[in-house]
Amino acid sequence: MVVFCLQNIATAQTSTSVKKTTIDSVKWRADHYIVDRDTAFKDPRLAIKKLMGGNKRFVENKSIRPRQDAQTIKKLGFGQKPFATIVSCSDSRVPNELIFDQGLGDLFIIRTAGQVSSAASYGSMEYAVLKLYTRLIVVLGHTECGAVAAAVERPEDVPGHIVTLINEIKPAVAKCANMPGDPVNNAVRQNVIDQVNSLRDLDPILHKKYLKGEILIVGAVYDLHTGKVEFLDETMKDLPEKTK
Ligand SMILES: [Zn+2]
Repeated sequence: MVVFCLQNIATAQTSTSVKKTTIDSVKWRADHYIVDRDTAFKDPRLAIKKLMGGNKRFVENKSIRPRQDAQTIKKLGFGQKPFATIVSCSDSRVPNELIFDQGLGDLFIIRTAGQVSSAASYGSMEYAVLKLYTRLIVVLGHTECGAVAAAVERPEDVPGHIVTLINEIKPAVAKCANMPGDPVNNAVRQNVIDQVNSLRDLDPILHKKYLKGEILIVGAVYDLHTGKVEFLDETMKDLPEKTK
């Protein structure tokens, strides 16, 4: 798909003085860190690059807000092919499509506070993998997460079901007990790493698919102050290759 951007349209004079408009598509794509949508759908490594590129645009105030027009809505009425599944916190400051500069039909998103997963979340991920053929799952935490902060503070008499969130995050907090630095942000990272590892081990579907390299599961943290998403090295190493 050719994407038009007024700033990058070069005008040229012809011999008859009629102005012609041309777009340097390759340059425009390079300047805006564009990764092709269909190849990102097929290759989870390119899907990661696509998310990285979109977040770079967002941080640099160069968002292109793709695929949000009437034509896209009409097309998507016939089906979806999201190129990534995001398991994210519900926090209103982390709207996934905006921070990754993606559009309609691009991201299959499961959001709960502290991105704590339950059976319904697992079922949603499995649906994305088996029925929508999405090959990338990203667990996305964020700095200063309220759910993680609650697990660090461990208040007494937690009302309602909030205790479920705290109990799920507590093991990550415990692992960070002797770490220097901010206890909440340390636990945010550890929580993402632990969640990635538990999804990689999740039977009966994700574990097998991950081992065969058919899907990738990685973790990232969004910085509330800068808008930047950092993909965590701890979750990007030794990723399985797809066996033929
Ligand atoms: Zn949060």
